[in-house]
Amino acid sequence: MSVDPVLARIDSDLPASLDRLMELLRIPSISTDPAYKEDCDRAADWLVADLKSIGVDASKRETPGHPMVVGHVDGPGPHLLFYGHYDVQPVDPLELWDRDPFDPQIEDTPKGDVIRGRGTSDDKGQLMTFVEACRAWKAEHGTLPCKITFFFEGEEESGSPSLVPFLKENADELKADIALICDTGLYDSRVPAITTMLRGMLKQEITITGPSRDLHSGMYGGAAMNPIRVLAKIIAALHDDNGRVTVPGFYDGVHEISDELRDQWEALEFDHKAFLKDVGLSELAGEAGRSALEMIWARPTCEVNGIGGGYQGAGFKTVLPSKAHAKISFRLVGDQDPEAIDKSFRDMVHALLPRDCEVSFNSDGAAPASVMSIDNPAFETARNALSDEWPDEAAFIGSGGSIPVAGYFQSVLDTESMLIGFGKDDDQLHSPNEKYDVESFHKGTRSWARILDALSKG
Ligand SMILES: [Zn+2]
Repeated sequence: MSVDPVLARIDSDLPASLDRLMELLRIPSISTDPAYKEDCDRAADWLVADLKSIGVDASKRETPGHPMVVGHVDGPGPHLLFYGHYDVQPVDPLELWDRDPFDPQIEDTPKGDVIRGRGTSDDKGQLMTFVEACRAWKAEHGTLPCKITFFFEGEEESGSPSLVPFLKENADELKADIALICDTGLYDSRVPAITTMLRGMLKQEITITGPSRDLHSGMYGGAAMNPIRVLAKIIAALHDDNGRVTVPGFYDGVHEISDELRDQWEALEFDHKAFLKDVGLSELAGEAGRSALEMIWARPTCEVNGIGGGYQGAGFKTVLPSKAHAKISFRLVGDQDPEAIDKSFRDMVHALLPRDCEVSFNSDGAAPASVMSIDNPAFETARNALSDEWPDEAAFIGSGGSIPVAGYFQSVLDTESMLIGFGKDDDQLHSPNEKYDVESFHKGTRSWARILDALSKG
């Protein structure tokens, strides 16, 4: 089976492919708002019907929340699990949209044609790149080059409450040789990317209590401990002068990136000056001696996300507050253990606490990082296939944010994930006027055809 006629068909079928995407985009499948429950259901039905039209044995599977869509099709190559989500974010503030978010349109812009509407980039447009690639294979060769399980979720934008139970219940059915997740972006418009490192997260809110009530600083100041002073000391102690986090054992499980990956990242010529200038800054603030991409993708962090205590209104009130609090989060990498770090962080806070103060912790969850083992040859195979389609060579990149589904595939299905997507930084995900470039959709579809071809040949 040759990929060339498949690519030619993708080109000639582009208008019809876009029409199908428009149909899906017109369904307002906002998962977080119960008012759109039927629409979520309709989007799932639409996908089942569309998969059936290309010979996939597909069905809608009920969950306590919105349904999953699962489909199977046989093929000679390895077993691939493809994941995307059909739900979308809410659209408000509606007045900031230039058009009805659920009446998508192709717009001719100075940067090229874009598909404008909610869900174009996140994630319906991306999901359909894979479906369209499969449709073209099927049309040309009567079959698909790999055995494929399609898996579409309808609750990704509302915290995926049904995902893990569903994966556990259907693990035997969903387990595959490798998972493909299409919900990420290109590195830039010339360089496609496979995201292989996703940072994890640990969140803690700490509240320091000193005196039993707010005090007048003229009467008590100097004699009574001020919890803001204690909190400031704790926060100041979290980093050393070289930008390293000082929580004992924090770097256990943090690995250096390989020389090969370091070379790839250097070749990206990331302009950290422009990156910082964009937000009014000029100097990197992370660990001394590390590159900006390393800081964002491969190194752990500790950040104070919010802080409060005492009088915050207009004017001045010489209060000595009873309480002070801060919201502190850690981004985790490699094999860092969220529970061990959480304990070590609490111990450190307790050790810095004066006898008269108390601390309480309010945890807001923790998840380890996911790191894909890129020595699995499928990664290099897919990277080469992507490089064939785009102007510049594809890169293995990291992501500062988290995509929990990759971690769940690993822990529940024991299936490694390749995160490949064609979104761009200016797609305005989750914001008004979301768009997806027609080029992303077209070349994304062609990319999947090439990846399927390459993976089928091993
Ligand atoms: Zn998404």
